[in-house]
Amino acid sequence: MKITGACHCGAITIEGEADPEKVSICHCTDCQTGTGSAFRVSVPVPGDTFTMTGEPTSYLKTTADSGHPRLQAFCGKCGSPIYSTTPGEGRQASYMVRVGILRERDQLAPKRQNWYRSARAWVTGLGALPKNQKQAQ
Ligand SMILES: [Zn+2]
Ligand SMILES: [Zn+2]
Repeated sequence: MKITGACHCGAITIEGEADPEKVSICHCTDCQTGTGSAFRVSVPVPGDTFTMTGEPTSYLKTTADSGHPRLQAFCGKCGSPIYSTTPGEGRQASYMVRVGILRERDQLAPKRQNWYRSARAWVTGLGALPKNQKQAQ
């Protein structure tokens, strides 16, 4: 399916093709730190379908949990995570795009959880917490 997205401030927009069956959660500690949250939700976008406006800031994590170096791209203005990919010049084979920046995120529910051994223990118990439909009073 076609996907479109933008960072929080709009300086970066992306487009591409993604398979909704390939949406995954990553619980690794790098993703916890990189998102400032409990886990990350991403979908792979083949490089030959991926287009972007704006210039993301990037950070090369050489000691990722996976053992492989990963280039993390985010908006240098608002800090929204955009994607990760293999380091190198020019277009890469695949981009792991962050589902939270996509307009189609309602249709991109996660299909699997990776690095579950690093998952926060409370992640599976969220259903039991009190729920405010808007901000807490
Ligand atoms: Zn931005
Ligand atoms: Zn991760």
